[in-house]
Amino acid sequence: MIGVDEALQLVEQHAVPRAAHRLAAAEALGAVLDEDIVSTIDSPPYDKSQVDGFAVRCDDLSKSPAELRVLEEVTAGQTPTRPVIPGTATCIMTGAPIPDGSDAVVMVERTSVVPGNATIPSRVCIQESPRAGQNILRRGEAMRAGDVVLRRGHGIRSIEIGLLAELGVTDVRVTSRPTAAIISTGNELVHADETPGPGQIRNSNSPMLEAMVREAGAEARPLGIVRDTEADLIAAIRRGLECDVLLLSGGVSAGVLDLVPPVLRQLGVKEIFHKVQLKPGKPLWFGVHEQSGSSKLVFGLPGNPVSSLVCFELFVRPALARMAGKAGNCCIESAELTQAFRHHGARPTFFPGRTVRKSGAGLLVEPLKWRGSADLRRLADADVLICFEAGDYELPAGSAVKVRRL
Ligand code: AMP
Ligand code: MG
Repeated sequence: MIGVDEALQLVEQHAVPRAAHRLAAAEALGAVLDEDIVSTIDSPPYDKSQVDGFAVRCDDLSKSPAELRVLEEVTAGQTPTRPVIPGTATCIMTGAPIPDGSDAVVMVERTSVVPGNATIPSRVCIQESPRAGQNILRRGEAMRAGDVVLRRGHGIRSIEIGLLAELGVTDVRVTSRPTAAIISTGNELVHADETPGPGQIRNSNSPMLEAMVREAGAEARPLGIVRDTEADLIAAIRRGLECDVLLLSGGVSAGVLDLVPPVLRQLGVKEIFHKVQLKPGKPLWFGVHEQSGSSKLVFGLPGNPVSSLVCFELFVRPALARMAGKAGNCCIESAELTQAFRHHGARPTFFPGRTVRKSGAGLLVEPLKWRGSADLRRLADADVLICFEAGDYELPAGSAVKVRRL
């Protein structure tokens, strides 16, 4: 039986980025850039005021308070018409360009207007001695024309959509999203809106996997529940192989109705591995289907919901990320156990845990009271999987462990 690292390597070898296409930037939420984005602008495009106040010359204010003559008022969208000369100030609003001659802005709260009858005050009393450059954001301080601001492989969030708009980039080249078909196998399964009869349970894997596929930036094609017969499986798997990735749940262990591996082989899906040194998730099956030049990835996930979830996190999510063009995908952190933990068995365990941030920098993690691979309820309290190495041992409270974010 192969280990987790070797299995992941095999999966990643077969997961190649999909082709790219152009997309309106505003529609690109969740997509991954297939090009570097180079700025054509300086940002800000001119020296600008960061506050509402008065643009002044520091030399005039080596002693404060001091009174200055007000030249004009400049709001955002206007440009100054007069240089600030000794003894003067310009009333300026946030975002407006700094007038020539001025080297600092004093915020309005540190000033008082000398009473007069004009709408723009003719004199202002400044109550502080500013530093040179105070409250001024210089042209190009945030980015310069020619800077690579986003690299290929960068995922587009709402932040990037805003930044692209600032740059005037209205369309981008992105990696096409992979498609993933989802099939849940099992004679015992009923839909979430049905009441299970004797021996039946609701199909929790399909909705969960569908959501996980979407979270991973791929397109989900749910193909429903399939009964444990060769004919039904063949028909459903044929449809599933139209997608880039096929996820099956159930039917990959050693039971009499575990027909998934032989049916996949019969349909020409080449087995890469079956079974991994891993708990939960040992029965995982992975294979590849070569079809008119493109290769489809097929995962036979174990039926128990937490096993399916762990296998998705360890193998399917990284595969989808690569296919979607994402650069890095690691989410391992260190944490300290809040309580002792006893580990049994020859397989490494991915155990649900809940983290809290310690006062200071580190993370503490509490192993949850989890009843095994059918217990999805406890996972609702978890935010990480704790990675326990294989073996029979006890870790005292305070031991360092690795955790993977869920
Ligand atoms: P299997 O791998 O088909 O032997 O299934 C292992 C266990 O997982 C059995 O107890 C199944 O009832 C359960 N199971 C299989 N498929 C699902 C599913 N889609 N949703 C919830 N539980 C499932
Ligand atoms: Mg089954």
